Amino acid sequence: MSASHLARHAEGCLCCGTTNLTAEHTLISLYLAFKAFNAGPAPCRIIRCNNCDFRFYDRGLSEEEGNAYYQKYRDENYFTERNKFEPFYTRAVHDDLTERTEQRLGAWILTMPFLQLG
Ligand SMILES: [Zn+2]
Repeated sequence: MSASHLARHAEGCLCCGTTNLTAEHTLISLYLAFKAFNAGPAPCRIIRCNNCDFRFYDRGLSEEEGNAYYQKYRDENYFTERNKFEPFYTRAVHDDLTERTEQRLGAWILTMPFLQLG
């Protein structure tokens, strides 16, 4: 697959390949736009697959943009810088969300039939 990172829907759903897709409009987060491509807020689309219900951003990141965004990802400067754009986002909030997500996933995984004994 060689879909452009600017229009990832062009070759169909990223999971199942169908072209039966629906677009929803949103904005690229201020911090991601700043960090990945040094720009301000911009409209973008979230694509929803009508076959498998997978959702993905139509605009992805080029390799260069991905490298810019993930360079020193989640080091102390990352949190300080991101917090200027998203005041709610701190290391404490991130760590708390991560811990609660892991707990929920852990509990959910234990309900999987393949883990049931007897
Ligand atoms: Zn799909």
